Amino acid sequence: MNFLEREDTIAALSTAPGVGAIALIRLSGKEAIPIAASLFGGGKQAPKANIVALRKLYNGAGDELDEALVTVFNGPRSYTGEDTVEFAVHGSVWIQQRLLEELVHRGARLARPGEFSMRAYLNGKLDLSQAEAVNDLIQSETAAAHRLAMTQLRGGFGEELGDLRQRLIDFAALIELELDFSEEDVEFARRDELLALLDESLEKIASLMRSFREGNAIRNGIPVAIVGRPNAGKSTLLNALLNEERAIVSPIAGTTRDTIEDVINLGGVAFRFIDTAGLRETQDEIEKLGVERSLSKAKEASLVLLLFDANNLLPEDLQSDLSALQEITEARILVVGNKCDTVASEKRESFVPFIPGREIVFLSAKSGWNLDLLKSELQRLSGLGDRPGASLAVSNMRHYEALRRSHESLSLARRGLISGESGEFFASDLRRALLSMGEITGAVGVEDVLGSVFGRFCIGK
Ligand code: GDP
Repeated sequence: MNFLEREDTIAALSTAPGVGAIALIRLSGKEAIPIAASLFGGGKQAPKANIVALRKLYNGAGDELDEALVTVFNGPRSYTGEDTVEFAVHGSVWIQQRLLEELVHRGARLARPGEFSMRAYLNGKLDLSQAEAVNDLIQSETAAAHRLAMTQLRGGFGEELGDLRQRLIDFAALIELELDFSEEDVEFARRDELLALLDESLEKIASLMRSFREGNAIRNGIPVAIVGRPNAGKSTLLNALLNEERAIVSPIAGTTRDTIEDVINLGGVAFRFIDTAGLRETQDEIEKLGVERSLSKAKEASLVLLLFDANNLLPEDLQSDLSALQEITEARILVVGNKCDTVASEKRESFVPFIPGREIVFLSAKSGWNLDLLKSELQRLSGLGDRPGASLAVSNMRHYEALRRSHESLSLARRGLISGESGEFFASDLRRALLSMGEITGAVGVEDVLGSVFGRFCIGK
């Protein structure tokens, strides 16, 4: 995106495209208010700021386009920080298009995806991670994803990292100063204090990095695999879960239909069943490969359901399947005994001693018996249920990468400091770390990251 284009007045449809009861069209920039006023006809003024006014809108030929609710926001007290006008019109596609045409005709330009939020960032209304949180908030489909985005929107990252970064900047400045006096061998920066600050920063960054797995799970759903021998009832169980709890999700860019179909929402947490297409295929295959075939997909899961037919499996075989599974995955494993509609309870009990230290969920995928127990176990194992209080977790790959690079540079700086290197060596590591930390909130001039951040937004946001 060209930064000079900030001078333009931009317009876009901010509600979803298509017919709706109401459509919201937004106009932002220097000329927003005069352009809006020119639509009211008869030399009428724009309404006062921050009140909702009913106005008739006319096209260039003087024909009435619609009667709309118009809200004016004077910059900097607006989302973008600029003068902004919002038109709530009747949601016909025809009206939406005519109004946009009129706005363009009068000097506005159609906004690019994310351009409103980008201006909000450039005008200092939001930091970069907050702007990204706006997008996450729009895309959030579960309570947990919503909570995470809200926390980030409130500026969690900016605050936590900004403070550390500022203290590191102060040290970096002192060290640069020492370099200017290098002849005189002075030390302005207390080495012990710097070491303590480096340790604190490394610990903070490491904990944010650890939260990435969790943040990612919240955003994209926790990947779950159902594995087990052929005919254990894997497809039946999947269908039973999906039929009852299929998440109602909208097709959004970047998610394929398959993944949409195989997501369930339990207590505000999304569970995404992976490789379920493979699961469906295997139904017709001959029982030749035992459990190995389905094991391979367990590698990508963070939760694995090891499903077995409680009617037709020897406890020893369950034991060996579990060991095989444990060898290939670090995921949490839940052992599930199926077909209990036809299994006597003594038979069920016979499995228990073979997998010491683990619970087995006994259920019937066919009749639905104990399916609720399985669901609550899934929630419990995810560790993400309706926790009190919001937590700050890294859910964004861009943030994670920047944190990883900061960690790397800070570790190098720390090593240099401990081994008594002279300031000029670890000063450059420190500078690199500060750059990476700044990238997260956009505190440094990182024009190339901006395009990639805002390009993912919807138009009109
Ligand atoms: P997969 O090969 O593991 O996907 O197993 P399927 O889901 O295709 O099930 C294999 C067979 O077991 C089918 O005939 C199912 O109807 C049957 N089945 C699955 N779950 C149950 C259950 O809970 N009780 C009973 N009695 N049969 C089941």
